[in-house]
Amino acid sequence: MPRKTLKKQNHQGILESLERIVGKNFVSHRLEERYYYSGDPSTEEPHNPGFVVLPRSVREIQEILLLANREGVPVTPRVGGMTLSGLAIPCEGGIVLDLKRMDKIVELNKNSMYVVVECGVTVGQLKTYLEENCPELWFSMPHAPPSVGVIPNVLINGLGQLSLSYGANSDMINGLEVVLPTGGILRTGSCALGKSWLTKYCLPDFTGLFLGWFGATGIITKASVQLWPKPNFRDALFYKIYSIEALPEVFLKMSRSEVCEDICMFSWTGTSGRERFPLAEKPVDVPEITMDIVLNGKSLEEVKHKKGVVRSIAEKLLRKGIQIEEYLRSPQAKKEVLMVPRIFPFMDLLQGGGAEYLGCYISPSLVAAAYRRGVEIARRHGFQYLHFLRSMRTGHAICILYVFPFDKRDHDQVRKLVNVLKELSEECINLGGVLWKPSPTLQKFVLKNADSEYLKLMKKIKKLLDPQGIMAPGEWALY
Ligand SMILES: Cc1cc2nc3c(=O)[nH]c(=O)nc-3n(C[C@H](O)[C@H](O)[C@H](O)COP(=O)(O)OP(=O)(O)OC[C@H]3O[C@@H](n4cnc5c(N)ncnc54)[C@H](O)[C@@H]3O)c2cc1C
Repeated sequence: MPRKTLKKQNHQGILESLERIVGKNFVSHRLEERYYYSGDPSTEEPHNPGFVVLPRSVREIQEILLLANREGVPVTPRVGGMTLSGLAIPCEGGIVLDLKRMDKIVELNKNSMYVVVECGVTVGQLKTYLEENCPELWFSMPHAPPSVGVIPNVLINGLGQLSLSYGANSDMINGLEVVLPTGGILRTGSCALGKSWLTKYCLPDFTGLFLGWFGATGIITKASVQLWPKPNFRDALFYKIYSIEALPEVFLKMSRSEVCEDICMFSWTGTSGRERFPLAEKPVDVPEITMDIVLNGKSLEEVKHKKGVVRSIAEKLLRKGIQIEEYLRSPQAKKEVLMVPRIFPFMDLLQGGGAEYLGCYISPSLVAAAYRRGVEIARRHGFQYLHFLRSMRTGHAICILYVFPFDKRDHDQVRKLVNVLKELSEECINLGGVLWKPSPTLQKFVLKNADSEYLKLMKKIKKLLDPQGIMAPGEWALY
């Protein structure tokens, strides 16, 4: 797909046009600001954008995209830039659209349980807003820093504390408003009829044209996000699991019990409690895996009953020969586990500056194989492994995350880690898994393995929506 290269002589003209659209204070071409937006903690190569622009309205975004089309300038949208897989890196320069100023909560509908947010609304902002205005409802929050965007999380098929019950966060939206790369506005879901943001049904659904595309098909400017009744009481149980082979059975039984709010498992390296960078070796006498089960209820009795169900499942598993053992954690540790979003100390960006995690949605029956392959590949390349697993939608799938904190200053380490990630990607795809939020480097593996008709349709859609190829050019680079 041909794209005009940004002409040097146009730089000043583009700058002036951008200043006219959003105002002088909200455009920058200063090196230090461009540098800030050039990269993220992942292994992906940084690239400086030519301009950083902070629009305030849908109208301004339309004008910027019209300008970008005229001048052949790439555009990369961004809120937090914290996917840890390089998805908001402007790999061909051009304009980074920082959407944080578009931070309005447009509508709260308590009866139909949804909230309409603009594209810059952060997870922390929406959480606070709901606590103040509608404490009886909550939404599915990633355990990411509160400064990340609600809409980016939806469009990367993120997962939160409600994903065990309702699926990926992209399953929990009623519709979108999108500025198309050519400047027009499209609404999906019931808001295509202009009266309400109630539901994604029953029109032909165009929402998927913008989810999972990482900005390559347009700028989502609003989304209707589903809310859910917030439980009055929550509690947690903690288990040690001594064998990787036990994972499918434990996930299956616990997930299908339908009494758990969330089920998270960590390799020992994720919960060791000591300095995590570089990651420590597991002592022989500690269990391979720990599991946190969060339970909730409208009353304390309900929570107590659910705890009883989980404990009786664990007893049955034990009787079947699976080494699973409940253990206690301090009140403070339990409090931290019950926080939403909760803090994951293993993403230690301050030590070494690098962190990347590859995710994969995989069948519960293959989760032990995916875990073992992760251990083997990491070790072979000289890395410690750190796996985090989460059950989704009553156990229809497990999301396994291979987490790698690393020293970004050490180029040899970065190169080796890229090889680990590539090998892991191949392995996950061979196991029938689907990579979650793959980096531009790893997207190539997905495309290589994708069915040819699927690829053809992706190309057609990209060309139809973005004829000049200006949007997020590194994402799903189909040309
Ligand atoms: C410590 C830590 C823990 C995490 N835990 C979780 C977790 O539990 N669950 C989870 O799901 N994620 C998790 N994440 C990953 C990630 O932070 C989140 O998914 C987050 O929601 C990404 O938001 P962002 O604002 O950083 O996205 P950005 O990086 O700004 O954007 C993500 C992608 O969307 C595109 N984009 C952004 N806005 C728009 C728009 N309006 N229209 C079109 N395209 C757009 C960008 O170009 C990019 O491709 C974690 C991250 C960290 C650092």
